[in-house]
Amino acid sequence: MSNYPPEITPSEGERLTEVVKDWALAHGLTVRPPPAVIAAEADPAGILATAVPVTLFPSPFPKVCFDQGVAVQKAYNELYASISQDEEFLAQVVKEIGDSDDFITELWKVHLRVKEEGYVQHKSLGLFRSDYMVHQDGTGSGPQIKQVEFNTIASSFGGLSSQTSSLHKYLSSVEYPLLENSIKRGTLELPENGSAAGLASGIKQAFIEYGPSSTSHRKCVIFLVQGGERNIFDQRHLEYELQQSEEPLIPVFRLPFSEILQHTAIAEGSGRQLLYRPPQLPSHTFEVAVIYMRSGYGPSDYPDQSAWEARYHLERSAAIKCPTVLTQVAGTKKVQQVLATPETPSNPSVLSRYLSKNSASIADLANTFTNIYPLDDTEAGLKARKIAVDPELCKGYVLKPQREGGGNNIYRSNIPPFLKSVPESHWPSYILMELITPPPVRNTILRNGKLEQGGVICELGIYGTCIWDQKSKVILHNERAGYLLRTKGDQSEEGGVAAGFGCMDSCNLV
Ligand code: ADP
Ligand code: MG
Ligand code: MG
Repeated sequence: MSNYPPEITPSEGERLTEVVKDWALAHGLTVRPPPAVIAAEADPAGILATAVPVTLFPSPFPKVCFDQGVAVQKAYNELYASISQDEEFLAQVVKEIGDSDDFITELWKVHLRVKEEGYVQHKSLGLFRSDYMVHQDGTGSGPQIKQVEFNTIASSFGGLSSQTSSLHKYLSSVEYPLLENSIKRGTLELPENGSAAGLASGIKQAFIEYGPSSTSHRKCVIFLVQGGERNIFDQRHLEYELQQSEEPLIPVFRLPFSEILQHTAIAEGSGRQLLYRPPQLPSHTFEVAVIYMRSGYGPSDYPDQSAWEARYHLERSAAIKCPTVLTQVAGTKKVQQVLATPETPSNPSVLSRYLSKNSASIADLANTFTNIYPLDDTEAGLKARKIAVDPELCKGYVLKPQREGGGNNIYRSNIPPFLKSVPESHWPSYILMELITPPPVRNTILRNGKLEQGGVICELGIYGTCIWDQKSKVILHNERAGYLLRTKGDQSEEGGVAAGFGCMDSCNLV
């Protein structure tokens, strides 16, 4: 389909705007409005929601690339479960990041403190998302996906993503056939997308794996959140999916990170069960089976030492953490760089340590890597430093600190002046990554009720859920869980939907 997405007339644009706006509000494809937009007096009770930015059409996405991402997800789940079990490797990574990164240093201290007294919970839950862009080089070989990053904490948008797929499916059967450049019903290839149900099912499995309550209290799941979260409906969709389950009934509570110490306690005795008293239901106490973190991934959640105490308090408890500190550290960009470092005769690939030698997955995973370099004083690091400070060479690269949540990277010609402002002893806490430049795609984005037409860049995320035992090293659950397509204007460097630059999308496989 060469003329896809089709040109639309202004009046068709108006009609689609009406239809999409209403569908989004009616189905919770929404976020809370930014406080600056809603004057406090207009919404004192916080009852308003606003439609999430979306594309009018599912973006064309190469089917081979989609299939490639789907095919490697379970191997990725297994890989990151194995890395989480390798404390020695992670300790080395933390050492290489260095103590100039206070956040990672403090995080690691939490693990060391708990290790000293001994963990009481060995099971661990990962709700992962591996992110990719399409890469096409000039060699005439077909398109491939290259990994942007692998998320092990607060992998978001799974709740909104399945809704976006439903929206595009609805439009393709009801609206696209009516356009002047009509798209016949059934001609788009829209993959199934069970992201919300899939992620919820991972949480449910962990709830079951926790076993029966060992206090007299009922079990619950805690969603550990940030105060004033705007992307709340994404999280609510997971919660509602979880509560679809009749057996077992799963009570879910949202607890702000800043209130952990106020509302939770560790039971007396050696079991260290985490007890939660919902402030609005003072006569109830629950035993927390699973803590699903949608916060705690960056320094802003840890304004003072008591926030670190709170994280320690959770980490030492018997609740199953999603993620543990170890799994959070496994998700750093530094780990991704180490994994992507090619094998040399003197330096066997780190991948082969975690996946059985002759397994096809080693090659399949390695095919998704692009070049990533350290900025340390190894040979590769010194070479990368030269690139990073060169005003011409740096144009093909992005510099990344060990941070999550968008808005932290430094791009292209901003890299040399940035590095100049950082003491050289701190450079090893960054990695330098080749920019992936996907082939151009056009689409129309509906944002804040207005249409923006033009070139877009798409980023595919594949979700996976995994439960493993840190001690016995057994994987108890390993599943794929739908996908995310996030799209941004081709002029924007960052693509986070919550950060305000990107939008929700779904795939039309071509
Ligand atoms: P975060 O953990 O903050 O989301 P990412 O590594 O995903 O960090 O980077 C944020 C965004 O920057 C990505 O969503 C993508 O749009 C862009 N980006 C990151 N790495 C690359 C890359 N190698 N090539 C092209 N764009 C990239
Ligand atoms: Mg990330
Ligand atoms: Mg990202």
